[in-house]
Parts: sequence; structure tokens; C-alpha cells
Amino acid sequence: MADFEITIIGAGVVGLAIAARLSERHPNLVVVEKNEKYGLETSSRNSEVIHAGIYYPPGSLKARLCVQGREELYHLCRRHNIAHRQITKLITATSQEELPKLEAIYHNGRENGVPLELLDREAALRLEPNIQTAGAIFSPLTGIISAHELMDYLYHTAFRQGATVQHHCEVVGIEFSGREYSLEIDEHGHRSRITSEKVVNAAGLFADRVAAMTGIDIDKAGYRQYFAKGSYFAVTPSKSNVVSRLIYPVPLNEGLGVHALLDWGGRLKFGPDVEYLVDNRIDYTVSEQKRAAFGNAIRRIVPTIRDEDLSPDLAGIRPKLQKKGEPPRDFVIAHERERRLVGFVNLIGIDSPGLTSALAIARYVEGLLYD
Ligand SMILES: Cc1cc2nc3c(=O)[nH]c(=O)nc-3n(C[C@H](O)[C@H](O)[C@H](O)COP(=O)(O)OP(=O)(O)OC[C@H]3O[C@@H](n4cnc5c(N)ncnc54)[C@H](O)[C@@H]3O)c2cc1C
Repeated sequence: MADFEITIIGAGVVGLAIAARLSERHPNLVVVEKNEKYGLETSSRNSEVIHAGIYYPPGSLKARLCVQGREELYHLCRRHNIAHRQITKLITATSQEELPKLEAIYHNGRENGVPLELLDREAALRLEPNIQTAGAIFSPLTGIISAHELMDYLYHTAFRQGATVQHHCEVVGIEFSGREYSLEIDEHGHRSRITSEKVVNAAGLFADRVAAMTGIDIDKAGYRQYFAKGSYFAVTPSKSNVVSRLIYPVPLNEGLGVHALLDWGGRLKFGPDVEYLVDNRIDYTVSEQKRAAFGNAIRRIVPTIRDEDLSPDLAGIRPKLQKKGEPPRDFVIAHERERRLVGFVNLIGIDSPGLTSALAIARYVEGLLYD
């Protein structure tokens, strides 16, 4: 008999959400995490926005899981007092030329079942007098959440239901006997093995590496991840009231565009940009040299912010399935039965809206393993 019924690799918000969900009926579950604590990577380096589900292609996993996950998340937050605010959002067209694109985003969001309102310039300015706008989309269901409080809740729920979270445990090898998985674990240089009937790979930035440990050719499978860093700049406190909700531009290139965010300390921040990292080298520094480019991007939507008002803040890294310049890809969430890896689920390319979708992803994974 295997040591565990389920092993989850990675204790980010997605791994923890899966642990909290599955341990309710399957308490013989372990989460193995290489860091000293859960949630220290992408899950604590993001915008903490509860996305409404506006931009993603209708029918895609991102669209479906974001819409479902958002509803479940608001419900959970209200029930368990997890810090959140349904702060709402505007997407602003900064010129007449951007209006057709704004309308296309509106129709896409409506097709995803998201309640939205198209506002003319005057109506948008009544809500946000300090923005640059020729018209906007109002999204009433967009909000912000404390990712830390959410992860604390998920961790304690899994723990209370009998699951274990093992920190300092990095998975470095995986073998499958046809009946159970044997995982090689590195704990401060000390190697050991655990066995498990089922395995969920929720290793975030390293999910492709973990998938490769099972023998999957990640290039053939389309699982190779590319790191796209996103940096943020904070605005001087005297200007933190220039906007009162999240303000996004009409996206120009990759990503949603540098946008205005309000964090839990009441600070106004702008970000994230998109910077592909050479050779996937992790780097969380925010370069002062980006100040001018940020200033320009920000003034497109909030003209009163000057370069001197900005100071470098945090950065996070997205695991993207597309290379720079390629069209966006959907989440990959796959039970690898057809690759003869029965009971093995890969989650690859879980970039935004992974935080919003975490509870719905957990439900989806449960369906893949137990339906
Ligand atoms: C700049 C930025 C802004 C974003 N903004 C938003 C937003 O506003 N709203 C939203 O919904 N989403 C947002 N996202 C996306 C969201 O943050 C991610 O989708 C989500 O955090 C992914 O969670 P995860 O658990 O999959 O990954 P992670 O949080 O990266 O967790 C994976 C865990 O696996 C562990 N691990 C890796 N390899 C191993 C191994 N071999 N053995 C053991 N453990 C291992 C890691 O240490 C890590 O703790 C943003 C992302 C970025 C980068």
C-alpha cells in the first residue's frame, strides 16, 4: 500500500486550494513544498485582483474557471472573513481610436457571462475624474483579496481535515510502477522517498520540470514554460487618492497593460509590465531604470502622476506557455491517463487568473481524479 493516497507538489494558492478540497474526503494527503513556508513564490507576488473574467476566450479554461472561481472566492471570503473588497474596475479607452477595441472587450466579457456596463466619457469621468478617457467599461464584480489570508485559510483547512504540508521538501525525481508513484525528495541535501497512489503537479514556475520527471517530453507536449516577469511601482502617499478603484488601459501588447491597483496598506501601485527573462533566470529586483517607461504608461491612464511620484515596489514571475510575441495560451490541466500515467494530474501555465480561479481549479482537479 502506498504511503499516501494523494501527493500534491507545490504549496502555492493552487496546491493549497486542491489540498483543502480533496482532504475533506481523502485525508491521507500530503503537500510537499520546497520552500520554508507555503505561498512564497508567485502566489504572494501578484496584483491580488479577483478578476471578473472579461478578457479570456469564451469557452476556455481561463474564462470558465475564472468566472466560477470568482463566485466561489467571494462566497468563501464572506463566510470566513478573508480580507477582500469588491472595489470594482474601469477599463478606459484613452482615445477615440481605442473605442472599437474597448467594445470588443465588452462583448467578449459579456459572452463569458460577466456583467459589465459601457460608459461614455462623461459617465466615466463622474466615477473617476482624474483619468484619461474617451469611454470606459465598468466592471462591478472585480475586487481585491489578501492572497496571504486566503492561503492561511486553505492551509489551516487542509491541516484540520488531516492533510500534512511538508516544507523544505523538494521533489527531484518521480517513478511510476504502474500502480503507485515513488517520489524522490530532497530535504536539505538528505534524500528520501515517499509513495503515493495519485500525484498532482501544482509546482508553478517549475511545473514543466516536474512534468519532465515523469518522462513526458515537455516540448512535444507543449508544456515548456517561459518566465515573464511583472514589476510594480508604488505612488507617493500624497497621490494615493487620485483614483478610487482599479483602472486598466485597453491592452496594447502582451498582458493587460500597466494598471492602477490599490493594496492592503492603502497604497496606490501601478503594474505589472511584461519582461521575458533570459534562460528563465529568476530575478525579483525592480530596476529604477524602468521608472520613465512606467511613468509614460501610467500617464496614458492617469495623467497627473509624475516620474518622481514613483518608487520601485515588488515583482512577480508568470509561468507562460507562449514565447514572447506569441498569442496567449490557455491553462493546461490534464489527467495524464493517455500517457499511461494514471492518477497523475499536471497543471501547467497557471498564470493569471490563477489566483481568482484557484477554488474552481481545485474542483476541476477533483473531477479529473474521481469522476
Ligand atoms: C505579476 C503577476 C500578477 C498577477 N496578478 C494576478 C491577479 O491579480 N489575479 C489573479 O487571479 N492572478 C494573478 N496572477 C497569477 C497568480 O498569481 C498565479 O496564477 C497563482 O499564484 C499560481 O499559483 P500556483 O500555486 O500555481 O503557483 P506558485 O504560487 O508558484 O506555487 C507553486 C509552489 O510549488 C513549489 N515547488 C516548485 N517546484 C517544486 C518541487 N520540485 N518540489 C516541491 N515544491 C515545488 C514552489 O516553491 C511554490 O511554492 C498574477 C501573476 C503574476 C506573476
